[in-house]
Amino acid sequence: MKTYDTVVVGAGVTGLTAAWRLVEGGQDVLVLEARDRVGGRLRTEDHNGSDFEIGGQWVSPDQEALIALVAELGLSTYSRYREGESLYVDRARIARRFTGEELPVDEQTGKEIDRLIGVIDDLAAQMDPDRPWEHPQAASLDSVSFAQWLDAQTTDQEARDNIALYLGPAMLTKPTHSFSALTAVLMSASAGSFTHLVDADFILDKRVVGGLASVPAALAARLGDRVRLSADVTHVAWTADGAVVTVDGEQIGARNVVLALPPTHVRRIRITPELPAEHRHAREHQSFGLVIKVQAEYDTPFWREAGLSGTGFGPWELVHEVYDNTLHGKATGTLVGFVSDLNADALGRVSADERRAAILASFAAYFGDAALTPRTYVESDWQHQELTGGAYATSFDVGSLTRWGAKLHEPVGPIRFGSSDIAGLGFQHVDGAVRMGTRLAQNILDQQIL
Ligand code: FAD
Repeated sequence: MKTYDTVVVGAGVTGLTAAWRLVEGGQDVLVLEARDRVGGRLRTEDHNGSDFEIGGQWVSPDQEALIALVAELGLSTYSRYREGESLYVDRARIARRFTGEELPVDEQTGKEIDRLIGVIDDLAAQMDPDRPWEHPQAASLDSVSFAQWLDAQTTDQEARDNIALYLGPAMLTKPTHSFSALTAVLMSASAGSFTHLVDADFILDKRVVGGLASVPAALAARLGDRVRLSADVTHVAWTADGAVVTVDGEQIGARNVVLALPPTHVRRIRITPELPAEHRHAREHQSFGLVIKVQAEYDTPFWREAGLSGTGFGPWELVHEVYDNTLHGKATGTLVGFVSDLNADALGRVSADERRAAILASFAAYFGDAALTPRTYVESDWQHQELTGGAYATSFDVGSLTRWGAKLHEPVGPIRFGSSDIAGLGFQHVDGAVRMGTRLAQNILDQQIL
């Protein structure tokens, strides 16, 4: 049986970053990936002659670890199209035009939205995103759902629904009653501030030429035959000195193991001796959000001719946010929209034709009937893929971040755990995966030197 310095399980960005940094540090590394491709939640697919980014795609200016890696790999970026006016679809389904960040709501509601943004910014400023459980108000913020917390902050329903939109459907992709106010603050702190999250021009700033999946592809190319695909790890047997990893009946030795998986997927692997109880509890209280990402490509970006940027928000719409997603250098025009949490549940129960009709009708609420007839229509819904199980990422239920958050970072014997879903800065984003992968590798290399 061959023994590696480190076996990395999972060839998403976390695993591939960790593996490459370990190789740079002189280690003999093997990456085992259950799918027949690398990239995990990053993937580009060709549909009807155009590339569509099925998973993660955007890069924002605060994501310094990802930006540095993109440059290191020789990749380049381009800006999301944002010229012209944005749209706000109100409760009566009237699409109202606006510019800048101030939504076209009545003055009092606008002030209330700004006040609430300030309150969350203040809470986020007091948080170290690597240790959200140490926030001065951690216990109280983690004991209430974000919905309850918001209800206690304001009686202005429209202000409340818009703030809920940013952190619920748009970010954590869960109903706001299912995650805590502390998790909402963590999401804000992980991006630098809540102000950053509500600024689409900031948070959805750039894309990578060739797609964000070029990042894992380039890392895998550097790793070469150190990456083994279609290798679903089923068992890790460990002692204080190392582990034996089983894949397809084959046993592989490892001095260190990195499980670069969403916390929910650690449970798919039999680990002996079993993980300490608190480690199991911690992962049992994590779950994926749900969002269906929908892209519709048209012969032309017709909204631009009408002076529209393609950006739209509709807190009461099936598609709660929409953006111009036209590919770099393409003459066609593409819109991307998102259907989240309870709406995603409901659409999961209807036929593909009914789903498409409902989603395009919601696009039309923003852009008119021209949106009803795309040349290409692509849905990506990760909930039906066992090796992911939802989108964008996993998070804790109410009360669990303070109770078990720190556990997710603790190694057990030679096994270390990581994923974008437990990152501080870059939480639930590719930047967090890069940071986690880098940190895991550094911890292993530091331990080796000692
Ligand atoms: P993953 O990518 O989930 O990698 C885990 C890997 O482990 C997978 O390849 C899986 O197949 C493998 N695996 C699981 N079990 C086993 C096993 N037993 N044996 C071997 N292999 C196993 N982030 C952004 O920054 N910007 C965005 O615009 C953005 N949009 C998103 C849109 C969608 C639709 C989705 C789904 C995600 C989006 N994200 C975005 C989030 C981002 O994609 C993730 O945070 C990031 O890719 C996670 O990387 P990871 O390596 O931690 O996990």
